Amino acid sequence: MARQLTNEQIEQVKATMDAAQRFVIFSHQSPDGDAVGSSLGLMHILRNLGKQADVILPDALPQYYAYMSGFEEITYFNAQPDKALMIMQAADHFCFLDFNHLDRMGMELSAEVQRNMKPSWMIDHHQQPTDVAQVLFSDVTFTSTSEMVYHFAQQNHWMWAVDLSAMTALYTGIVTDTASFRFPVVTAETHRIAADMMDRGLKHAPIHQAIYDTQTENRLRLTGYALSEKLYVDATHGFAFIALSDDELNHFHHQPGDTEGLVNQALSMQGIQVAAFFRETSERDAVKCSFRSKGDWDVNAFARANWNGGGHKNAAGGKFIGSLDNATALFKQLMRQS
Ligand code: 5GP
Ligand code: MN
Repeated sequence: MARQLTNEQIEQVKATMDAAQRFVIFSHQSPDGDAVGSSLGLMHILRNLGKQADVILPDALPQYYAYMSGFEEITYFNAQPDKALMIMQAADHFCFLDFNHLDRMGMELSAEVQRNMKPSWMIDHHQQPTDVAQVLFSDVTFTSTSEMVYHFAQQNHWMWAVDLSAMTALYTGIVTDTASFRFPVVTAETHRIAADMMDRGLKHAPIHQAIYDTQTENRLRLTGYALSEKLYVDATHGFAFIALSDDELNHFHHQPGDTEGLVNQALSMQGIQVAAFFRETSERDAVKCSFRSKGDWDVNAFARANWNGGGHKNAAGGKFIGSLDNATALFKQLMRQS
């Protein structure tokens, strides 16, 4: 693990820049602010360096990220698989951002990427990276992949190519992965990067407003319903969770991103050490799970061991194969015996 690229890696990046013209950037399923922010940030940087660059995401993003330049150009594999495949096949180089195991793109996209594999870079801040890329910049001490892309640009002497569009995207990833600079992983360096971006003309307030102050009425009512009707609390064992069925989500005309943050609200209660959020997905019999914890309680290990997932010590996720009721039953059982 290193906060810096090695000299050898910098040489490898240079060689790629000499050899490759068409770059494709990939990020993970259910993309979040850091997935899209790091991807669009690197896309703008590469374009300013004279390269062709495209972003492919497995599935849809919350609409409130539309303020980022390049948002309209993103190709979603689930909606346009043929277009995504054409872009992949024409590419010289792949970039994998904000995930470190190809499975995190979903089985189908992961299979296509492996079939059409190109030399690649992987930039990521999760634990236990797989060895798939020629340049692996991996370090769990960074707040976000977006912060790492900024470092990547700095170390390759590309700062002149980091324009307002790139900074807006990278700042978004830092803000969303740190819940507005509040998590322990934030360093003085994180703030220095934000300050440097502001010195270069970045306007921070409209970004916070676009992310946090543009909720739809449906989303706000869904939050109210989830908190008042669906919050399960076990004060004795220090856990809480919310589970939402497909019918409930449809009742509130659920859009991607609408349940983002619910799990953090459950964790915000006093005496609660672990919080979870479960929701039915369009995949048959698959329940999407989110876990959050306070202090030393390691939800990354918990998600790896029991939920086909992973993440960070205090924020992790996974997938349960089975019904929503069975997922919550298993969660209660595990929490009561832990
Ligand atoms: P969220 O609960 O917001 O979806 O995800 C929280 C964290 O867990 C993120 O860092 C995310 O990358 C990770 N994560 C979420 N779902 C999965 C999953 O299915 N597998 C793995 N390995 N990590 C996940
Ligand atoms: Mn991230």
